[in-house]
Amino acid sequence: MSLTLCPGCGENTSLDGLKVGDRMDCANCAGLTLAVKEQHGSLTLVEIRKVSCPSCDEVLEVPDALQPGDTIECWGRDYVLSYEFGAFALMSL
Ligand SMILES: [Zn+2]
Ligand SMILES: [Zn+2]
Repeated sequence: MSLTLCPGCGENTSLDGLKVGDRMDCANCAGLTLAVKEQHGSLTLVEIRKVSCPSCDEVLEVPDALQPGDTIECWGRDYVLSYEFGAFALMSL
């Protein structure tokens, strides 16, 4: 049985049956989505970064490559990604 620590709550989480690219929800962390990635030859869990849209309250995923200052599109409108107080936020242009 392969275990890894949840990045949200630090609890041991089973990776049995999971492979790189799979997603799971931690039973202890409400609203946290985790993705399985390979690091240094073993599987690990990373948190999917999310931000909610200021216009429609939709929760959008923040791709790994995006940094504050980049734009995210929601329903045809672009929003600027910012990072404040430990969380991502979107601002209308
Ligand atoms: Zn957790
Ligand atoms: Zn939206």
